[in-house]
Amino acid sequence: MTEAWGPDDDKPRRFAGPVKVRVPSKINLHLGVGPLREDGYHELNTVYHAISLFDELTARRGDTLTLTMEGEGAGELALDDSNLIIRAARALAARGRVPAHARLHLRKSIPLAGGLAGGSADAAATLLACDLLWGTGFSREELAEIGAELGSDVPFLLHGGTALGTGHGESVSPILARPTTWHWVLAIADGGLSTPEVYRELDRLREGPWPPAALENADELMTALRQRKPEVLGATLANDLQPAALSLRPALADVLKAGYDAGAVAGIVSGSGPTCVFLAADGAHAEQVAAELTEAGVCRSVVTARGPMPGARVT
Ligand code: ATP
Repeated sequence: MTEAWGPDDDKPRRFAGPVKVRVPSKINLHLGVGPLREDGYHELNTVYHAISLFDELTARRGDTLTLTMEGEGAGELALDDSNLIIRAARALAARGRVPAHARLHLRKSIPLAGGLAGGSADAAATLLACDLLWGTGFSREELAEIGAELGSDVPFLLHGGTALGTGHGESVSPILARPTTWHWVLAIADGGLSTPEVYRELDRLREGPWPPAALENADELMTALRQRKPEVLGATLANDLQPAALSLRPALADVLKAGYDAGAVAGIVSGSGPTCVFLAADGAHAEQVAAELTEAGVCRSVVTARGPMPGARVT
């Protein structure tokens, strides 16, 4: 795998042929959720982490805008104007004042509504692929600005790595740490959870005495990231949405327990769920935890992944 470009100054201006972009999914190592703001968003303090479960988007020249797909969610996910890929292509074309003409094909591995930001990942991949196909020449920052209008996680998925997200998640700053690879095991659920519904459930739970509505920052986790010890990182993983996801899907408690029983260092619901993500000590340990978790039969499938990974990249 070669990365066609990294920093913006290396970015080629235009591709004549098909442009293939690989984009990672994300987990949140820390997801602090503040009270509901007047604009309908919750204030977030989150640590994003891009992992090696990828979608792949190919953009070819065409006379109209079309989308086809294979893999996770094929036959289920609408391919019309509601799809974030189509919305991203149209937003880019409008900003670049070019016709939104492309044949797009998605190979999807990121489960739908899984708390792994698959839709935002696809939007990020589309912005990059179409920018190169159409020669609109936007910088990664400009693409992130267009992406923020489509979904809070899109800017992060253009950048990748491990990063602090503030605002409603759209404002991203990289976290510089010594290079360390973390090993994860993902328990993929049958059926998704709607992100807005999980936030509504959190607001409902917060009307009672618990859980608190205070926005916790990620300082402890950021210190732990620098120590490069799985047990130290594991102790600081936190997700304010977890009680809400568990309230809507109580069976997730069994998945978390099965992960710990399988020897995981730590486990947490990923974002709004229902995917559960477990930290392993190393690659071999991840395989072992994955095998035991599969044996437990508490979820649809189990995959291992590494992080951090770069954001959307041309392959
Ligand atoms: P997040 O964590 O960003 O809230 P998620 O991982 O829980 O998201 P996604 O798979 O990103 O969930 O998508 C949520 C919903 O967005 C889907 O149920 C679907 O209706 C809609 N959607 C639109 N376009 C896409 C796409 N290309 N891929 C996935 N979902 C899409």
